[in-house]
Amino acid sequence: MASITLENLAHSYLPNPGGDSDFALKEVNHIWEDGRAYALLGPSGCGKTTLLNLISGLLTPTSGSILFDDKDVTASSTAERNIAQVFQFPVVYDTMTVGQNLAFPLRNRGMDSGYVAERVQRIAQMIGLEADLHKKARGLTSDLKQKISLGRGMVRDDVNAILFDEPLTVIDPHLKWELRTQLKSLHREFGHTMIYVTHDQTEALTFAEKVVVMHEGRVLQIGTPKALFETPAHVFVGYFIGSPGMNFIPVSVTGNKAHTNGETINLNHDYGNPQGDTVLGIRPEFVRLTKSDGLPVQINRIQDVGRHKFINATLFDIEINISADGGFEIEPDMVMVEFDRANISLFCDDWRMNGKAIDQGKRGAI
Ligand code: ATP
Repeated sequence: MASITLENLAHSYLPNPGGDSDFALKEVNHIWEDGRAYALLGPSGCGKTTLLNLISGLLTPTSGSILFDDKDVTASSTAERNIAQVFQFPVVYDTMTVGQNLAFPLRNRGMDSGYVAERVQRIAQMIGLEADLHKKARGLTSDLKQKISLGRGMVRDDVNAILFDEPLTVIDPHLKWELRTQLKSLHREFGHTMIYVTHDQTEALTFAEKVVVMHEGRVLQIGTPKALFETPAHVFVGYFIGSPGMNFIPVSVTGNKAHTNGETINLNHDYGNPQGDTVLGIRPEFVRLTKSDGLPVQINRIQDVGRHKFINATLFDIEINISADGGFEIEPDMVMVEFDRANISLFCDDWRMNGKAIDQGKRGAI
């Protein structure tokens, strides 16, 4: 296993790239720590696969370098990098049995047969393929074939890292949760450095210790699921993480006050006098419907999903979402909203502002 360092790494598919927009991956600097589980999260086309293929050596970067521990591997082949990769669609040998497929990466490297048998048994048990070990891969469902691919990716314990590119795409929804849980326990047990690409936030947040959020070829934030939820570094992270995502209200800011449509919202931090487009971000979980305090809203629709109620409302001319407990009674005279001040975020030109905390006594009422 190894830590993986990206130094000024950037990639363009064009032969003579010019400006930023020519780059599928804009310059990134990052260290993937040895033995950690990461997710690379972002919408389709944001550059996740490009970054993964640069790490595995399937692509050579336009600029910058990649180090495994202290060794520069930028010019090394995929085989020399000693990486296991699991792709979106199953890669299995149909004529071999499940067991032979799982054993293949070990046999290929001339491992001792006792070790191979023990390791295959172990992996098969972890991913629920024990009963299928003697079946030919041909004729198995795509779920089972993808399980074999996952098993093959995990079977070697001497790899520097395991890279997963949307590995659960073809998996039946009810099995996804089970496999994600198994991957997580395999990670805990074997301690490989794992990088897991997905556009599904649930997959990313439940699998990874740290999530790398990408948008339009740029890494916007690398953080724990908690940090991405509580302190998004960019409006895109606020919008993309959470279901529904963060609400945004254009405001002007002076010190610890945000102004919009003749109303003032007191803030817990002093943001000075920011120049640029400022928006206030508040997650649906931290907006509360009230009868008489706060800002005026009109409720558009209410969706009751059992444990929660999702309320869509119009605040000035902006649609916002409010998340309330399932038991919360919505009364006709609830025409205002309050924001939980400790959970207000402010952004200037899309990036988070970190204001200076101010004394409790100096904060105004709502
Ligand atoms: P998806 O989830 O759809 O796979 P992604 O986040 O993995 O998307 P990439 O596949 O890395 O994104 O693509 C990033 C950008 O690079 C996209 O604009 C894509 O069209 C472009 N791109 C990807 N592969 C190539 C290629 N071989 N040649 C030219 N452009 C490419």
